Amino acid sequence: MERVFNFSPGPSMLAQPVLEKAQRDLICYGTTGMSVMEMSHRSKMYTDIFDQTVANLRKVMQIPDDYEVLFLQGGATEQFSAIPLNLMVNGVADYVDSGNFAHLSAEEAKRYGTVNIVATSRPDNYTYIPDLSKATFTPGADYVHICQNNTIYGTRYTALPEVEAPIVCDASSMILSEPMDVSKYGVIYAGAQKNIGPSGLCVLIVKKSLLGNASKICPKLMNWTVQADKGSMYNTPNTWGIYLAGLTFEWLLSIGGIEAIHEVNKRKAALLYDFLDESKLFKGTAQAEFRSLMNVTFVTGDADMDAAFVKAAAAQGLVNLKGHRTVGGMRASIYNAMPEEGVKKLVAFMKQFEADNA
Ligand SMILES: *Cc1c(COP(=O)(O)O)cnc(C)c1O
Repeated sequence: MERVFNFSPGPSMLAQPVLEKAQRDLICYGTTGMSVMEMSHRSKMYTDIFDQTVANLRKVMQIPDDYEVLFLQGGATEQFSAIPLNLMVNGVADYVDSGNFAHLSAEEAKRYGTVNIVATSRPDNYTYIPDLSKATFTPGADYVHICQNNTIYGTRYTALPEVEAPIVCDASSMILSEPMDVSKYGVIYAGAQKNIGPSGLCVLIVKKSLLGNASKICPKLMNWTVQADKGSMYNTPNTWGIYLAGLTFEWLLSIGGIEAIHEVNKRKAALLYDFLDESKLFKGTAQAEFRSLMNVTFVTGDADMDAAFVKAAAAQGLVNLKGHRTVGGMRASIYNAMPEEGVKKLVAFMKQFEADNA
């Protein structure tokens, strides 16, 4: 069977060379005579893989030396709890409510301290990033939490907030898609299943000066300081997931790194948005200024027509275009691993569908 173009928001496509390499290595990795999944995480062969993976992420994202790189379990969602547990020294944090995951993160943090929602676009169904120039940030807040790309609503920040407190950023659906100046953040975290590898894994980049502040009730497994001391191996890590993440980092480096993929991503997004702007049938749902490069949300305005489109697209090998249940309509998730060809095919199909249904 031929592979489809999979526009799933996550877990989503992995790059073809990554899958092929993983397939070749599945039964015997190199000269070890065993699969990566069968190796002790403490063995030299595995720690070599792990160290190379960390080194490649550091290289591809240009992570400064005063930042720790952790590979954790429980996806991005576990960090919604770990963030307040590791950072709330004064017991207060600011959150920007720009989407569903930002909202969930803030709700979870309320269990551990005072959460101030400094700005929200929730009343407008999250069609934009709220204006932070008018927001009042809390003096002495332990951190400011943002979600830089809102996966469900298809919006993204165009600039980081100007704040004194460290910025804690959920980058799950945009990490590695465009350059990020890591030094501007306190913490960057990302569930792996969008731009990195398999689900269940979370990459967390934390400024070393923020470590050592975990609350007494913070579970050891979620304590970043413990994990940093143990090289992300307080318990058995997701060895296979980390290995696959390493293949993705290698692939990115081989094609020219983040600058190169960012150019591709801009072209892919422009193909879709340019068409949406001229279409008489389809309409983008995110405010133009905040349009995401990774998740393109659109509707026809008629739920039955939307459903017919999603079905007809799937028959053409363009799958998982249904929007999130809270928004309806369509969403094309076009992460790093989605080839330009897939987006071109989608736009061509949208044009055809429009002509057929005019
Ligand atoms: C997918 C996603 C999450 C949730 O990730 P899990 O790995 O399922 O916990 C959180 N935040 C954002 C922005 C996401 O896109």
